[in-house]
Amino acid sequence: MIRFYNTLTRSLEDFVPLEEGKVGLYCCGPTVYNYAHIGNLRTYIFEDLLHRTLVHAGYKLKHVMNITDVGHLTGDGDDGEDKMAKSAREAGRSVWDIAAFYTEAFFHDEALLNIIRPDVVCKATDNIDGMIEVIKLLEEKGHTYTAGGNVYFSIDTIDDYGKLAKLNLDELKEGARIEVDGNKRNPKDFVLWFTNSKFQGQAMQWPSPWGTGYPGWHIECSAMSSRYLGHQFDIHCGGIDAIPVHHTNEIAQSEAAFGIKPWVRYWLHGEFLLNDKGKMSKSSGGFLTLTSLTDQGYDPLDYRYFCLTGHYRSQLRFSFDSLSQARQARLTLMRRVAALKAATKAAAALSGRAAELEKAFFDAMEDDLKAPQALAVLWTALRDESVDDAQKLALVLSMDSILGLSLDKAGEDAAPADSFPQEALDLVAQRTAAKKAKDFKRADEIRDQLTAMGFKVVDTPKGPVLERCNLGN
Ligand code: AMP
Ligand code: ZN
Repeated sequence: MIRFYNTLTRSLEDFVPLEEGKVGLYCCGPTVYNYAHIGNLRTYIFEDLLHRTLVHAGYKLKHVMNITDVGHLTGDGDDGEDKMAKSAREAGRSVWDIAAFYTEAFFHDEALLNIIRPDVVCKATDNIDGMIEVIKLLEEKGHTYTAGGNVYFSIDTIDDYGKLAKLNLDELKEGARIEVDGNKRNPKDFVLWFTNSKFQGQAMQWPSPWGTGYPGWHIECSAMSSRYLGHQFDIHCGGIDAIPVHHTNEIAQSEAAFGIKPWVRYWLHGEFLLNDKGKMSKSSGGFLTLTSLTDQGYDPLDYRYFCLTGHYRSQLRFSFDSLSQARQARLTLMRRVAALKAATKAAAALSGRAAELEKAFFDAMEDDLKAPQALAVLWTALRDESVDDAQKLALVLSMDSILGLSLDKAGEDAAPADSFPQEALDLVAQRTAAKKAKDFKRADEIRDQLTAMGFKVVDTPKGPVLERCNLGN
């Protein structure tokens, strides 16, 4: 039985789909006004692990992801400027060009990270009609009002606004900051449709029953999920920053429009990737893209491996040292699998201990996607002398259906990028011996010798790891 931590109930729950054997999954996709940073990509890797785990468990999965190419303002709560328009203005290009460029860049990154493309990828700008339909439904049911030319959702027309985030509305009202949008009856009301009264000269505009304009950000996810998954579906994902506003508003408007509760049964949220300033974000600066890692010689799969070392519900702190450790581990893994491939003619069917290990691996993934635990089972399996090479090979390849580390390609590179000269490896061993003998002077000399050769030794809890100096700091 698969179980997940459901943000809606704040508890681990057995996963029971609406329809036996099938799963409808919706994941909020990127806002394509800039490159995705590696924090965003962490969230898509988590969703990829979910995708792969569900498919492996035998479900017929329909995975839908939107592309936000209109309506997402710099502030989640209807404040600020349209992110797409701002980016286009700064680049001196059209919003459509900006959207097309960064959408392609996003899928390029996803492919490099072995992220399986969702079954449906849908653009907000292709679904304006669907959004207008949902807003009309909300209007008919008395959940909207028009003020200053914009259409708002009135949260006071429902009795459970904020249940996902467990918002305390009384407290919020008391402590409410001065609301910039004086049209709102309640500061938590949100825009469903902007008319051109807010941003004159907005390039993306569509006719609507409320005037020419464009949608608020939240409505797109309700419209597109219902178009592709129906009025109720199984799982909705995103990063935790979406809980208090975006997902809260998606729930409010969907349940009000479609009249089904809960609109979505399981809500899974990925925690943040941190850097030394805190949450990695585009606005706080200092964010890294996948290209900034590959420019320094890392493989995108080093980053995927790094993400696997943290559970999706825990914060993960990025540093180049940690990335280098992930790289070393991944390359060791690739070498081990290459050796297994060289030693065996074909992978064998699993039995006995190998079958047990395989079960332990998938059990870990099916227990709220415990990737670090699953990874530990993989390493245990590689060390287990009671499992022969043919079974070991079959086992790791089976595990890789979830890990997505391209282990089937192990041994295909003529010269692995990390093949260190024997001299450097010998020096590392001598340094370890010197440290053991408490000869720190000698140990430091060896370190300097390695630096002069272009290498760096990083001491990790698992022992020293050799790196090339040009890899990161
Ligand atoms: P955006 O393109 O800004 O809409 O963000 C795309 C996804 O990345 C959303 O699901 C966010 O919740 C998520 N996200 C944003 N910042 C981070 C971060 N530092 N770590 C992990 N996920 C993040
Ligand atoms: Zn969304």
